[in-house]
Amino acid sequence: MPDIQLPTMCPKCGGVITPGDIFCSHCGYALVAQPIHIGQQINIILISLLLPPFGLVYFFKYFKSENSSNKRIGYIAGVLTIVSTIFVTWTTIGVWQGIQQTFSQYPSLSY
Ligand SMILES: [Zn+2]
Repeated sequence: MPDIQLPTMCPKCGGVITPGDIFCSHCGYALVAQPIHIGQQINIILISLLLPPFGLVYFFKYFKSENSSNKRIGYIAGVLTIVSTIFVTWTTIGVWQGIQQTFSQYPSLSY
């Protein structure tokens, strides 16, 4: 897959900047937010889905990012974390109710 690098605009002055620039050549704005590599993006999505609390780390790290694609990944991580958390909570409640039902079948074990 070719690494397509689209022209990017400085978030401060709107001047065209070269991807990978650390500072805007027009106004000197610090372009610290580098685009996240596609492999890292996949990692973030998987972590958000499989390890819900850690997805929030990426959400808080990237949702304020100057880089729009990084920002999008931040929001994706946040949404996936919420969806995953709801799913895990729902599953846990289901398992817990199953355990309670199992115990209720043995009155001697319950108080
Ligand atoms: Zn600029």
